[in-house]
Amino acid sequence: MKILVLNSGSSSLKYKFFDMTHEKALISGNVDGIGLDRCALKLNIGGQKDEQSITVKDHVDAVLLAFKSLKQKGIVKNYSEIDAIGHRVVHGGEKYSQPVLINARVIKTIHDLYDLAPLHNPPNLAGILACKKILPKIPQVAVFDTAFHQTLSPEAYLYGLPYELYEKHKIRKYGFHGPSHKYISEHAIKLLGKKESKIITCHLGNGASLAAVKNGKSIDTTMGFTPLEGLIMGTRTGNMDPTIPIYLAVHKGFKVHEMEDYFNKKSGLLGISELTRDVRDLHTAAVKGNKKAKLALDMFARRVAFYIGGYMALLGGLDAVVFSAGIGENAWFIRKAICDHLVPIGILLDDKTNKSNPVIASKHNSKVKIFIIPTNEELQIARETKELVEKKN
Ligand code: ADP
Repeated sequence: MKILVLNSGSSSLKYKFFDMTHEKALISGNVDGIGLDRCALKLNIGGQKDEQSITVKDHVDAVLLAFKSLKQKGIVKNYSEIDAIGHRVVHGGEKYSQPVLINARVIKTIHDLYDLAPLHNPPNLAGILACKKILPKIPQVAVFDTAFHQTLSPEAYLYGLPYELYEKHKIRKYGFHGPSHKYISEHAIKLLGKKESKIITCHLGNGASLAAVKNGKSIDTTMGFTPLEGLIMGTRTGNMDPTIPIYLAVHKGFKVHEMEDYFNKKSGLLGISELTRDVRDLHTAAVKGNKKAKLALDMFARRVAFYIGGYMALLGGLDAVVFSAGIGENAWFIRKAICDHLVPIGILLDDKTNKSNPVIASKHNSKVKIFIIPTNEELQIARETKELVEKKN
């Protein structure tokens, strides 16, 4: 079975085409700058990279370009070789705890959820509608970022707000990065060799979140109603006192859109360091004595460690901590800074092997395994798409 996975953002369209017999990506592409002058198509075919400047006015154009690249590069002769299309959709609300075959009802629900994910669901749906227009007969599946966390219990997903805000307005924790947490937790369960397991998955990229996963099910996660909650991220605040925006609005004249911009794009590692969101550059600067760069990295690590301790208690023990995504997979200095906090609870990092990004980074006598597992959200979406389409056939 061959599956095309699409991740359609506001100004970009990322895609990967998989041969699921060996779970191999035959081509991946990124149309970056949809509707802008600087639009480019970047391709990667088995490690061979190619980049062209192009004009793409909207998502229909971008999807058409993605389809054409499959033919032009000889990946398919005919579009009928695409067995299904899997779409990343950020918000499935409380409605979807599983992937779903896309039909008119699903399209309406994704649309109804625009208010909860105004930056993500509209471009996600634009990608779906473009595919429907161009190739209406190919089955399409929506895989939701929020779905994996729909197993949270009310005590985990409710905020300490009047209950009516949940009942009337669906204000609750949803959690994100679902396909990544699912992919890496399933991989960790295989490495542990037991189904009954207690795992904390740390997806640490520019966007970052943790999940507490018990027997394969998410029981808590750090992102919340939106992806702003939880960890300090590349440019996002993570948790803060909810009075801060009120104070800024009432006493300092901040407008809502200014605060959205501040909290999402100018805070986190970038905001604290006043330098960059990139942990490599922060590490280099910190080693040279830049105090704010060091502070930003220390704050990042401390917050991750704080949640690991809390989640270990909620899980009632812990078999493994898994590090993943750009920072988790590569930044040995962040893993070390996090794990330095965890020694008292028996999580022992092997400082030497940690530097070479091994699969197992814990010491032999550590009570908890530390794994480093590269995430693959696209493959997870392809797997879930395949499973659903096969079930329906
Ligand atoms: P996202 O997909 O959320 O944009 P990524 O998962 O690509 O983010 O992670 C980006 C982060 O990973 C950056 O802070 C970057 O510094 C870090 N990173 C990427 N590669 C390396 C590396 N080789 N060593 C250390 N950090 C790295």
